[in-house]
Amino acid sequence: MSEQEDPKQAELDAKLAFTVATVWRSERISCPHPNVLQSWLQGGLEGGAAEFVEFHLKDSECPYCNATVDDLKARDDEAKLPVLTDMKDRLLRSTSAELKRSKA
Ligand SMILES: [Zn+2]
Repeated sequence: MSEQEDPKQAELDAKLAFTVATVWRSERISCPHPNVLQSWLQGGLEGGAAEFVEFHLKDSECPYCNATVDDLKARDDEAKLPVLTDMKDRLLRSTSAELKRSKA
């Protein structure tokens, strides 16, 4: 297993990242789709994809995607529905209690 970083490759990546950031800032291209931002918020993105989104939001400071993320976060809080989860949990517990009772 060779995890050694090639300094030339790292330099190339840095240059590329700089170019991409500059292009993003000036042209606003390659904005991740809101679905991708949603996945990222939910921790569903890994490795390069997560880095891509984080870079776009934090380093490129894309105002459009940051606004989308804020919007998704607000909706996500509503969508969590802790009441429903609690009800389901209680339902499961009462069902298993019922089963134990009927067997006894
Ligand atoms: Zn964007």
